[in-house]
Amino acid sequence: MNRFVAAVTVSILAASGAVAQGVTEDMLANDQTMTNQVVTNGMGRHLQRYSPLETLNKENIKNLVPAWAFSLGGEKQRGQETQPLVYDGIMYITGSYSRLYAVDVNTGEELWQYDARLPEGILPCCDVINRGAALAGDKVIFGTLDARIVALDAKTGDVVWRDKIDDYKAGYSYTAAPLVVGDLVITGNSGGEFGIVGSVQARNIDTGELVWNRPVIEGHMGMLNGEESTMTGTLNATWPGDMWKTGGGATWLGGSYDSDTDTLVFGTGNPAPWNSHLRGAGEPTDGNTGDNLYAASRIGIDPATGEIKWHYQTTPREGWDYDGVNEVVAYNDRDGNMRYATADRNGFFYVLNREDGAFVDAHPFVKDISWASDIGDDGRPVFIEDNRPGDPTASADGKKGDVVFSSPGFLGGKNWMPMAFSQRTGNFYVPSNEWGMDIWNEPITYKKGAAYLGSGFTIKPNYEDHIGSLKAIDPDTGEWVWEYKNDAPLWGGVMTTAGGLVFFGTPEGKFMALDDETGEELWSFQTGSGIVGQPITWEQNGEQYVSVISGWGGAVPLWGGEVAKKVNYLNQGGTLWTFRLPKELAAAN
Ligand code: CA
Repeated sequence: MNRFVAAVTVSILAASGAVAQGVTEDMLANDQTMTNQVVTNGMGRHLQRYSPLETLNKENIKNLVPAWAFSLGGEKQRGQETQPLVYDGIMYITGSYSRLYAVDVNTGEELWQYDARLPEGILPCCDVINRGAALAGDKVIFGTLDARIVALDAKTGDVVWRDKIDDYKAGYSYTAAPLVVGDLVITGNSGGEFGIVGSVQARNIDTGELVWNRPVIEGHMGMLNGEESTMTGTLNATWPGDMWKTGGGATWLGGSYDSDTDTLVFGTGNPAPWNSHLRGAGEPTDGNTGDNLYAASRIGIDPATGEIKWHYQTTPREGWDYDGVNEVVAYNDRDGNMRYATADRNGFFYVLNREDGAFVDAHPFVKDISWASDIGDDGRPVFIEDNRPGDPTASADGKKGDVVFSSPGFLGGKNWMPMAFSQRTGNFYVPSNEWGMDIWNEPITYKKGAAYLGSGFTIKPNYEDHIGSLKAIDPDTGEWVWEYKNDAPLWGGVMTTAGGLVFFGTPEGKFMALDDETGEELWSFQTGSGIVGQPITWEQNGEQYVSVISGWGGAVPLWGGEVAKKVNYLNQGGTLWTFRLPKELAAAN
């Protein structure tokens, strides 16, 4: 069927007299069903990470064997969080320290490598990672730690254009996979711990020219075609004084695209600084509600203009570093309703309406949420105010507010690592962590390029026997269908297949396939270093392939407090693994 789709595409192009120019919008739109290639982050711009391939299934998964492995080389191996892309015989991956590799997909041999020359003084908050590239036409595009975006010739690795997203000296960086829609490449930004201002930007794919810019914090002015467009939100409606000017809301995980509603959906990080008492509501007469829009939110954006169509704030007046960046996955529920699902750092799994982003439902996806008792019917959390970290100005010496224990900890019930949806079961497969933190607030003032938190913290495990927890969640009810517990915190992506398999990796180095209905372990392979990457699958020469990168790192070893000590035996690395199900073993039981 996939070859049929590809053949139809080619014949349409031939009939119209056009010359096929690499990766087309049609390929990006149909990435999920064109199973002979993977040309988008998320295996489809809805980010379902579901493959309709069933050649590899529960019966023959035991016959999946390594085909080749590729080392990223270099002396500093750490934090390999990329998702590979596969197109026209080449696999593209990004590596730590803003590197990009093109590898022969048949042999695993390197074709070329691009190393961004990073300046001294870059300020990546959470390791020197990169989460993947984007393909468009004859280009492969990725972002770098000095907050730049680079378009390379996909065949040669030569630079076609390069542009600055923002000023790395002010704390901006870039780590997410860019998103391509039509003739635009769309990016967010990183730096929420430095008082930057989150924004979403769209550039022309051919030239790199900025088409529009949409800051995501109220009061900032947008840009369209070189001119001011509209202000984001209403000045001082939800922010006191000048705090919005350095208000955070980094859009650091990138976004998804819902083609049914023609909407870009981006999440926004924590409001800055972390100390929420500096961002609270004023006197009732001054109008500011203290919600701090549009930080810790999901926002729907019109790709043509960069205008905000809708927003939904998961954590109003956020005070725990519960970034609202988590991926928003478009799907249809069992009744055929058009829905979004997103599992927030704050521990709740949300279902939203795709028409207007309106709240539908929310349920916990971790065990011990302390900051809110529930999400109300209006979509606002029911706060447990005693569990908000205290105001330092209310303390005896004015220097340290009351310490509270908060769960999830600031690394989140779920952090960046993407969940997957299965069209086969109708369930989501959510990589989560059961941990909390001691947290307190301190005074802070903004200084360019310096950490802007006003908080101190220590992450702690909630349970002796596991931190990591992969859960199968029924989005219609919020019910946990099954749970797979893991000793170390999970930090890598998940993938589902029509063959009934759920793929993911662990920091202990195991790449695994579970039964999508029961959570039973069906297959595993030790990759030699912790897995924090994102698996893919595709088909070539009549055989099904699976790839994942291995290489421990990311935020946990740097920020994980007591958890970092618990897992400090884990070794770093950088190896891309590719597995195949040999044709002769596909039917074997
Ligand atoms: Ca943050």
